[in-house]
Amino acid sequence: MTYEMPKLPYATNALEPVISQQTIDFHYGKHLQAYVNNLNSMVPGTEFEGKTVEQIVASAPDGGIFNNAGQVLNHTLYFLQFSPKPAKSEPLGKLGEAIKRDFGSFENFKSEFNAAAGALFGSGWAWLSADKEGKLHITKEANGGNPVRAGLKPILGFDVWEHAYYLDYQNRRADHVKALWDIVDWDVVETRY
Ligand code: MN
Repeated sequence: MTYEMPKLPYATNALEPVISQQTIDFHYGKHLQAYVNNLNSMVPGTEFEGKTVEQIVASAPDGGIFNNAGQVLNHTLYFLQFSPKPAKSEPLGKLGEAIKRDFGSFENFKSEFNAAAGALFGSGWAWLSADKEGKLHITKEANGGNPVRAGLKPILGFDVWEHAYYLDYQNRRADHVKALWDIVDWDVVETRY
């Protein structure tokens, strides 16, 4: 199996000013491409040959294969969840109802998620995910971690590695995280729940 780059559903400058073209060029074009290339060079000849990225993330021991598979999975979910012009500003349907049930309100969910993203020390990700009963969870994952590893289904992920925002926001991670909500494509995110 060859692991591939996700195709961006928007132009590389389309997410400005939330995410600049320069950041997309580096983050998607260089960082993600490197994770994909690394995974393709590391997996052949190992027990993970022929496994999907999700299967590798769920089962690989800590190390290079897990790190690169995690980042391929994370960034695929990340880059496909944005739109320059989202059709709606919050989730509706099953996901919208579950957010109200598990966090009280959409606004409260966002502030809990922002707090998780802000409190993450070092490089990592904030995730919204669902367990087998459909209950929603907000988790912090260090480095290339993904909730798949804990048996959860990832729904929405914000990348808080500095490479995701430093060109545009420098040290202002909170401002970047706050701005990301404007480009979340809830139609895509709803389908993951
Ligand atoms: Mn990243």
